[in-house]
Amino acid sequence: MAEYKAPLKDIRFVMNEVFEAEKLWGSLAGTKETIDMETADAILEEAGKITSTLLAPLSRDADEEGCHFENGKVTVPAEFKTAYKTFAEGGWSGLAGNPDYDGMGMPKMLAAQYEEMLYSADISFGLYISLTSGASLAIDAHASEELKQKYLPKMYSGEWVGAMGLTESHSGTDLGMIRTKAEPNADGSYSISGTKIFITGGDNDLTDNIIHLVLAKLPDAPAGSKGISLFLVPRNSVDDNGVAGENNKVTCGSIEHKMGIKASATCVMNFDGAQGWLVGEENKGLLAMFTMMNYERLSVGIQGFAAAERSYQNAVAYALDRIQGRAATGPVQPEKAADPIIVHPDVRRMLMTMKAFTEGSRGFSTYVARFLDIAKFSDDQEEKKNAEAMVALLTPVAKAYMTDRALDTCITGQQVFGGHGYIREWGQEQLVRDTRITQIYEGTNGVQAMDLMGRKVVANDGQLFEIFASEVTRFIDAELDNPAITHLLKPLAASLERLSDATEFVITSAQNDRNAIGAAAVDYLDLFGLTAYAYIWAKMAKVAAAKADADDFYAVKVKTANFYFSRLLPQTVSLLESIKSGSDEMMSLNQDQF
Ligand SMILES: Cc1cc2nc3c(=O)[nH]c(=O)nc-3n(C[C@H](O)[C@H](O)[C@H](O)COP(=O)(O)OP(=O)(O)OC[C@H]3O[C@@H](n4cnc5c(N)ncnc54)[C@H](O)[C@@H]3O)c2cc1C
Repeated sequence: MAEYKAPLKDIRFVMNEVFEAEKLWGSLAGTKETIDMETADAILEEAGKITSTLLAPLSRDADEEGCHFENGKVTVPAEFKTAYKTFAEGGWSGLAGNPDYDGMGMPKMLAAQYEEMLYSADISFGLYISLTSGASLAIDAHASEELKQKYLPKMYSGEWVGAMGLTESHSGTDLGMIRTKAEPNADGSYSISGTKIFITGGDNDLTDNIIHLVLAKLPDAPAGSKGISLFLVPRNSVDDNGVAGENNKVTCGSIEHKMGIKASATCVMNFDGAQGWLVGEENKGLLAMFTMMNYERLSVGIQGFAAAERSYQNAVAYALDRIQGRAATGPVQPEKAADPIIVHPDVRRMLMTMKAFTEGSRGFSTYVARFLDIAKFSDDQEEKKNAEAMVALLTPVAKAYMTDRALDTCITGQQVFGGHGYIREWGQEQLVRDTRITQIYEGTNGVQAMDLMGRKVVANDGQLFEIFASEVTRFIDAELDNPAITHLLKPLAASLERLSDATEFVITSAQNDRNAIGAAAVDYLDLFGLTAYAYIWAKMAKVAAAKADADDFYAVKVKTANFYFSRLLPQTVSLLESIKSGSDEMMSLNQDQF
């Protein structure tokens, strides 16, 4: 695999120039005292250094070594332990954590950039840290003061890691069917019994304790998803001094042998009367989980495009080096037996598509992270409400569209290598294997599309969609006289029009056809994603165009935007047609005709 280079210039371009981090953080009540650009820049610099020099070089060996389960204990690749120590000492698990419990209190827009570099270096490793941050987020938002004081500082410091226990063998998407039980104890705690499967980092030997957040049902809980509660269950009991001791009847039954992220332990976890504590209110466990889900889902989207970035970097290096055939326009390296494959238009198509989607994803994820920060840190109620609406609308797109395009991109990156992409040596096949899971966990992408189409669009008659559409329209109107990007505004407006048309079509057809939402959902999410990326690319092109004459970096941005608009955005035309074909043909076979 080519050496990973943290794309700091691209990251700074998006965060500082396009989304104006300094202006934003200076304007929010909750960030103006805690972050300045110098600190943010130092954090990016350090993140770039440890991910590219310490972590990325371990990725291949860790994939080969994988995790092991022996005598009831899980071990992770040996070198992960040393790397983890460095990350823990640097406080990276608590980067966005609450400062009241020793977190660093950094905004998500910054944390998102760090996450990209972390996942580009290695998704498996990144999961141990990001699951800890995710679990901490839910504890911070919903647990009692006592639990927060006892657990958060040790999680933020990386002394303990976190894990999320939702899934059971018969209950994946439909969490209402979980069977794990929580029996109240006299001292206010609960006895948790049940088996969870597929638990990322459920057991590992990185730290001396693992803090599980577990969904379970109380004895008198209502049926279905309204009867789910959330519990904090440490693997090892913690005494009053915060010291981890005996096993708390939390054991690993086995680990999965799987396609990718082999250095991430995916565990079957048994809770045999383990002592746990309620987080949030009884029967409101899903609500408590939702607080962190927007963050987690964005994080999974970032996992995807981070791997795609790595695949792109490898593919460019290979395409410049590998010589096969001659350029159609005549030899470019006549002294050699053949030209580098980057001369061929089809290889250019692959590289440009990879570049346009990956950079579009970086822009889009930063855009969503910005709304998460406004929703969390603003004290302007109107602004906060608007940001919450946008987070709700855009989160399923961030999770599903970014990961779908990421897998496409990693496969394209593999294709650039021909047969050398299929064998292990060059690392491209690992990226394909590692990225595949991002479409599945944290809610499958099909279910994300249903969430977007059903809950976020149709359920409120398109009101959330209108907020997004108005923002894009305001941008178009404001830039009409900007000659640098006028050629992008017409296709952006046309694409938004198609998305509005699709929105109206599904809202109307859902009144008479119960399958309308499900039938349209995935195509609708793709149409939404393409249009949202067009908006992001137009914003990036606007900033870049002003500096393109002076600096090639910006000129390349403008050219990539032009490629996105001319070669990728037209897919919106066929998506609208597909959506408008409705559900009839899709549902036309009887079950026994399959
Ligand atoms: C490597 C790995 C790590 C994981 N890590 C964790 C973890 O840390 N914690 C945790 O709790 N879980 C974890 N999971 C579980 C993961 O979140 C689930 O696998 C996922 O939510 C899907 O559930 P399922 O596998 O039971 O599939 P199912 O729910 O059975 O879905 C099967 C198919 O049916 C579709 N489908 C289901 N319901 C609907 C519906 N209502 N409408 C339309 N389509 C539908 C799905 O989209 C999918 O295509 C992990 C899984 C893996 C493989």
